[in-house]
Amino acid sequence: MADTGMNVKVAVRVRPFNAREIAQNTSKCIKMVGKQTIITDPETGKENPFTYDYSYWNLGVNVLNNAWEGFNTSIFAYGQTGSGKSYSMVGYGEEKGLIPKVSEEMFRRIKSDERAVYRVEASMIEIYNEQVRDLFNPSNPLNKHGLKVRENPQTGPYVEGLEFSTVSSFEEITELMDEGNRMRTIAKTNMNDTSSRAHTIFQVLLYQSTTTKLEDGEVIFSEKSSRINLIDLAGSERQSKTGATGERLKEGASINVSLTTLGNVINKLAELSNADPKDKAKSSKLFVPYRDSVLTWLLKDSLGGNSKTIMIAAISPSDFNYGETLSTLRYANRAK
Ligand code: ADP
Repeated sequence: MADTGMNVKVAVRVRPFNAREIAQNTSKCIKMVGKQTIITDPETGKENPFTYDYSYWNLGVNVLNNAWEGFNTSIFAYGQTGSGKSYSMVGYGEEKGLIPKVSEEMFRRIKSDERAVYRVEASMIEIYNEQVRDLFNPSNPLNKHGLKVRENPQTGPYVEGLEFSTVSSFEEITELMDEGNRMRTIAKTNMNDTSSRAHTIFQVLLYQSTTTKLEDGEVIFSEKSSRINLIDLAGSERQSKTGATGERLKEGASINVSLTTLGNVINKLAELSNADPKDKAKSSKLFVPYRDSVLTWLLKDSLGGNSKTIMIAAISPSDFNYGETLSTLRYANRAK
């Protein structure tokens, strides 16, 4: 990925029409022309163009190239429920999403590289109502009341009691993922489709150590570590303003907090990287509100700085979803 200081990139993915959109005889309101995504207002016919950086397909390769160079990367899938976030991140059946594709390619690269020794650790968590649950270890006793996010002065924020699993093959990651997704599915049926209102973070820690022997016999040992975060965000649709009480109300509010904070954090980071580095006064005034949500706090070290952030805006092609699609395109646009 050719980067020039600006570390937030955006890709748009339009899913095909679904059965409901076809049955209701809705029309297409999205056109993709090169890097442009054009949305047409079904009432006025007015076209609104947005320009983004990437197509979905080269994202996975970029993530791995970054990781090998020692950069942290986060990919967020943003969009309304049913727009293709899980399809893009996890996939369905034979249609692999980014998580399995990236994992598979990562182990292929590791196995074909004899110069370095690698270690891979992975975790999968869910943030629901600002509470963290360990999806790779359903029996983790802390799941009941939620795991806490703490900060280590040297290594940054972390989830206390989260068990990372050491994995040595794609098959091992797949098994853990299946377990994690089963847990999400159970939550989905028990709790009235909470999964569309929870954020899921799949995290891979890649450690590489290389030993180089110089001509004069001197041996140089070097170590590099990087993190990959693949994040399936909660549905971005506006929560109904009426009728929500108690738990529902709290839930709606906390989803909006995380998504709004994420937007604010990314926006600030974009401003910072666009600011003149000599303009210290401006840079110091740009406070990045990481701590305002569990999601951004936890990902602090993988957002900004030398980290790469990619937003996938997942959208429906149909004018039936015009309002939500426009709001997704605007959110993504603000991130650039
Ligand atoms: P979300 O995670 O945003 O709620 P899903 O990923 O579950 O949405 O997608 C909703 C439905 O649309 C699923 O049945 C999925 O298979 C289908 N779908 C989404 N994206 C695509 C795509 N790019 N190609 C084919 N089908 C898709």
